Amino acid sequence: MTTDPKPEALEPGEFRSESAATPGDAPAAPAALERAAGDLAAIDLGPWFAAAGRDLPWRRTRDPWAILVSEVMLQQTQVSRVAERWPVFLDRFPDPTHCAAAPPGEVIELWAGMGYNRRALNLHRAATVVRSDNGGEIPSTLRELQALPGVGPYTARAVLVFAFEQPEAVVDTNVGRILARVVGGRLDSRQVQMLADRALGDHDPWTWNQAILDVGAKFCRPRSYACDFCPLSGACSWFRSGNSEPDPASASAAVSGRQSTFDGSDRQGRGRLVDALRSGSVDLTDVGTAMGWEDDPGRARRVLQGLLDDGLVTIDGDTVRLPD
Ligand code: SF4
Repeated sequence: MTTDPKPEALEPGEFRSESAATPGDAPAAPAALERAAGDLAAIDLGPWFAAAGRDLPWRRTRDPWAILVSEVMLQQTQVSRVAERWPVFLDRFPDPTHCAAAPPGEVIELWAGMGYNRRALNLHRAATVVRSDNGGEIPSTLRELQALPGVGPYTARAVLVFAFEQPEAVVDTNVGRILARVVGGRLDSRQVQMLADRALGDHDPWTWNQAILDVGAKFCRPRSYACDFCPLSGACSWFRSGNSEPDPASASAAVSGRQSTFDGSDRQGRGRLVDALRSGSVDLTDVGTAMGWEDDPGRARRVLQGLLDDGLVTIDGDTVRLPD
């Protein structure tokens, strides 16, 4: 039996006093925010991105459904695995209408190896809404996108930028980390998005956002940084300060902490059961075994109830199966 993969760090794809420098993890000062916004807006990442940006398959399309699928996949799965599974998913579900026409269980089946199976269900629900409310077309406004199941502010803006090339700035944990370090101080959630918007300035939105995500993947990593090579170093307060501890990103908004341990977690048991169901139904009496908890039936029952509540599985007589 295979299991859900352990979560891995996202790849690209979340301000400061009167002084223009703010020490460590102190709140960002207004002057530092202003300075960072101006400096970032003045940096042209286009040439660097053209020479060194990552060649990712979803960067070769502007199809909104394909972009949405890639962004949902990238939320919690590493880039290399998404690169494998994204074309397989689109081959079966080339548009929202095809996805909505399939039973949710088939979408969950096709999500094998991705982990966090609720994303598959939400994608199916989003496709269903798009088919019923928008003629099968992915909407092109922030409000409509954020109303779709499983679509939050980052994913909505990513679709607007990467599919429709609208002037939006995406903020995920990587962007949040970069911005806190560039400002040199802790940001709140309003400041993060505001700075991202100001930094976008007159840049080409598609290129700027992709380039920032690549800076987060290549140089400005959660627990390491390669400032000497970073194209943003000229704007970066934390670099100028000698990267003195604490890291400004450590307590900043939009920056996620370490993932909880996967081994032995409820999530592991959920993933094991859903994986087993991809091969066929499971007797209720075998659910604990499928989860790896044959000696803890109470925990197995509780986790099964969670899966039922989420709509990821259904009970049919004495068996559990994926939903129709
Ligand atoms: S200069 Fe260093 S700390 Fe600043 S954004 Fe680049 S990698 Fe991150």
